[in-house]
Amino acid sequence: MPSVTPAPVHEPLPVLGRDVRVPLITGGETTYAALDYAASAPALQRVWDDVAAYAPYYGSVHRGAGYLSQLSTDLFENARRTVAGFLGCRGDDQVIFTRSTTDSLNLLARAVPDDCQAFVFETEHHASLLPWRRVTYLAAPRTPEQAVRTLEQALAGRPQGPALVCVTGASNVTGELWPVSELAAAAHAHGARIVLDAAQLAPHHPVDVAALDVDWVAFSGHKLYAPFGSGVLAGRSDWLEAAEPYLAGGGASRRVARRADGGVDVEWHGGPARHEAGSPNVIGAHAIASACTALTEAGFPALVARERRLTAKVQEGLARVPGVRVLSLFGPDAPRVGVLSFVVDGWDSSHFAAALSAEYGIGVRDGLFCAHPLLRAVLGGASDEAGECGAAAAGPGGRSLNAVRVSFGAGTPDEHVERFVGAVGDLVRGGPRSPLSRGSAAPAPHLRPLRVPVPGGTSGR
Ligand code: PLP
Repeated sequence: MPSVTPAPVHEPLPVLGRDVRVPLITGGETTYAALDYAASAPALQRVWDDVAAYAPYYGSVHRGAGYLSQLSTDLFENARRTVAGFLGCRGDDQVIFTRSTTDSLNLLARAVPDDCQAFVFETEHHASLLPWRRVTYLAAPRTPEQAVRTLEQALAGRPQGPALVCVTGASNVTGELWPVSELAAAAHAHGARIVLDAAQLAPHHPVDVAALDVDWVAFSGHKLYAPFGSGVLAGRSDWLEAAEPYLAGGGASRRVARRADGGVDVEWHGGPARHEAGSPNVIGAHAIASACTALTEAGFPALVARERRLTAKVQEGLARVPGVRVLSLFGPDAPRVGVLSFVVDGWDSSHFAAALSAEYGIGVRDGLFCAHPLLRAVLGGASDEAGECGAAAAGPGGRSLNAVRVSFGAGTPDEHVERFVGAVGDLVRGGPRSPLSRGSAAPAPHLRPLRVPVPGGTSGR
């Protein structure tokens, strides 16, 4: 069959919330510019429509004899196949539905053999950094080649036994792409396995498990335009089949019987069900599958090309503003996704983000992005203080150690990044137009009333 070339995507994909108006502290209101895709991306309209189309047919999965239960079970298992196709899984790989990337990596960390040594760069998101029982942390590399060399040296010097490398595909701080297939080759050459944290990669780039030769991959639905509480762990089944179930309960157990000594004997399921105890999130799985289909149909080459254009606009725009420093491990020309973090001379990042929100209706993120060691590596901080994911920690000389992150994707119109670039320039050159920002004790977005026109969503603040 001749291959179909997808039509170029010149327009953003339709997402929910594109017409939402927000109040400005300076008076009036504006259309919200959602530039925090790396935290949670808006739902694709297509995902929302697919979920709505299924909603009347919602039923229990793997549990009911009724027609809607059967239909829901079928939909859930189809979602697994769609995700396997989207990820380019091998025939014998498993696709397990989880709650998120964090959940997926914790599941895998519980499933690895007891004596498995994990190797993780200190630059990882905390979800990849923290779940492992035995772990060797690797110093932040300053080039992709150095990352591969560092890993090779660490693996060559390790004691015998199973090993697992965990690496991100695209950094949630710098947006930079990591040399995944080279790291996979290095891992395998030294008898180790590798899991790819694709939380930031999958929404922006095709992920091909077989071609990259990674053993597992994890990602989250809410970053992939499918915010219904689901995530995925996909990959090799042997360690997963040999492990105790991640959660004990119904759905994971095939047979349970009382023993004469008063306890119970449990025979656990194999396959994905082993680690999916409890009633599965069929809407979440359906939403992820819908997003995978939507992105595939839009065509990644076109999506990537459009996002590169937006990224260049942001990079060029920020480069023109004095005192703005974009954070990077691998240098300004490193290939990246639409995620950039920066600091501004003389500004606390939380105040800067608050001013973008309050004066321009732009939603970005500030803080340490659940990647404290990476922030210290790129900002040159030496402090061991750890704030929360979004909070600032103390940096050298007591100055706050945090940054502003702007991130965008398939649903972002050009106007949003243009407004952002203009706002950064205006704020740096002209200062804030409201009293809330520079020098105030804390950003005060609460100076605007938070009114959400949905039941249960109206705040009295
Ligand atoms: N890995 C990376 C690279 C991330 O950016 C994030 C979230 O920001 C995670 C893992 C954790 O994802 P989640 O919060 O959906 O579990």
